[in-house]
Amino acid sequence: MTSEPTPAPARSDFIRDIVAADVRAGRAKTVVTRFPPEPNGYLHIGHAKSICLNFGIAAEFGGRCHLRFDDTNPVKEEQEYIDAIEADVRWLGFDWGEHLYYASDYFEQLFAWAVTLIERGLAYVDDLSADEIREYRGTLTEPGRNSPWRERPTDESLDLFARMRAGEFPNGARVVRARIDMAAPNINLRDPVIYRIVHATHPRTGDAWCVYPTYDFAHGQSDAIEGITHSICTLEFEVHRPLYDWLIENLPVPSTPRQYEFARLNLTHTVLSKRVLLRLVNEGHVRGWDDPRMPTISGARRRGFPAEGLRDFAAMIGVAKADAVVEFGQLEYAVRGVLNRTSQRRFGVLDPVKVVIENYPVGQTEMMTVVNNPEDPSAGTREVAFGRELWIEREDFMEEPAPKFFRLSPGREVRLRNAFFITCTGVVKDADGRIVELRATYDPATRGGDSPDGRRPKATLHWLSAAHAVPAEIRLYDHLFTDPFPGSDGRDLFESINPASETILTGALVEPALAGLSAGETVQFERLGYFCADRDGRPEHPVFNRTMTLKDTWAKVQAKG
Ligand code: ATP
Ligand code: MG
Repeated sequence: MTSEPTPAPARSDFIRDIVAADVRAGRAKTVVTRFPPEPNGYLHIGHAKSICLNFGIAAEFGGRCHLRFDDTNPVKEEQEYIDAIEADVRWLGFDWGEHLYYASDYFEQLFAWAVTLIERGLAYVDDLSADEIREYRGTLTEPGRNSPWRERPTDESLDLFARMRAGEFPNGARVVRARIDMAAPNINLRDPVIYRIVHATHPRTGDAWCVYPTYDFAHGQSDAIEGITHSICTLEFEVHRPLYDWLIENLPVPSTPRQYEFARLNLTHTVLSKRVLLRLVNEGHVRGWDDPRMPTISGARRRGFPAEGLRDFAAMIGVAKADAVVEFGQLEYAVRGVLNRTSQRRFGVLDPVKVVIENYPVGQTEMMTVVNNPEDPSAGTREVAFGRELWIEREDFMEEPAPKFFRLSPGREVRLRNAFFITCTGVVKDADGRIVELRATYDPATRGGDSPDGRRPKATLHWLSAAHAVPAEIRLYDHLFTDPFPGSDGRDLFESINPASETILTGALVEPALAGLSAGETVQFERLGYFCADRDGRPEHPVFNRTMTLKDTWAKVQAKG
């Protein structure tokens, strides 16, 4: 079946409406957004949605988007992640220009603002342990209780905070808390922790600090320092917004950013959470962060998904305020639309069976002209060697054809793409009855794949010259989790890891030209799917990842619904 890709919806959503209104009303002269990853893992496709949204809005409104590393937790953050995140954002097609920032750039200012809050009676040093703080916090139905340290004199808090910074106390001995309201219905306002002691080497500031701001204290203030007008984040931060606003109101910050929340992306059959992805890597369930099965941006790239496909996907799913789960097939649908347009066609045979053309001269080779991409005439043609011994796909032959099987079988004629018509004349089997070779004749008058007398075989097969074909390793991929909603039924989500998520074919053969493909290039193997050259390959041993098949089950589902 063929189906036109649905056009990307006109770019309008509730966030763009808010931004447009702010621009019209003069509340935002220059629209400034930011993408704020924590460098504690590689970016995933959910992040791609956020990147497309933040950079997209900045571009559409003639503003700018900052890349800011939210590096406030040195225990989990690494330079490797910083480098990978930059590479992924660039690869997706976005550019932050000179606006690369780190929350750690602001540590001195953030510390000074925490001091300001203490001086204003709006924060205090608390000696309760983390467990006690949790216990005092109350629940959704019960108010919290004041810490015994809440009324500690300002000078004492200032002195203790200075000594926390100086490294006098171990991890967890004390924290700084905002003094807001222990009875507030919103738990985030019950004297939230804003500074904690962490003796750990930070990837950027080294050992200069042993007190670090919390996410809540660092985020909005960093936004204000950078002049962010629209601080766009996912819905789980909605309950943090009153705290975000409280801090902006109570600190002498240079601007007043506003936070807006949208629904995070969830995809079926996978998990978009760095914590889970880190476990998959560490426990060896995958080859690494960029394993083609991983829902990471680097995994998608290695699998052969073009950046344009991810951007189209983001545009297709849009931005909403209600959580939803998107079918993995919809992502494939967006990517397939791009690959169909851009990828060159090649011949590859995954499970070969030999065909000997009995009436073709022994030792002869001729070059057949083959179209590179029927969707793109400018892609031109190439020459592919044809000879007496060929490989075709084993499943393209049936000795006793089933009713709707129109491909090769004894006595039947088929077309070899851009070559000749052949007719099967015999089957050679080994002692176990397995087919080891087919015999055929060809019609020299059908050169190029057309018959002068108008004969039209029902099937067209792909093929390779046995004398020229190159062995290749092909890696087939399936969903990483068998459960469409991994972990949703209370089971450990690691129990639904798909044991057959990767299948390695070692007997496949490809056109000689494919041995020279550089890693990351994606082609269509005719009739089989899209395949991307993997960096594990070498010219004498090319390796391909199957990006996806040609079948479009998602479009079919849409057409029925
Ligand atoms: P994870 O839960 O995978 O660890 P995170 O939210 O902790 O993700 P951050 O590095 O803090 O990861 O995220 C950077 C930005 O990307 C944040 O603004 C966050 O809201 C956004 N983001 C994270 N996950 C998604 C998602 N699934 N869909 C859309 N945006 C997301
Ligand atoms: Mg986070």
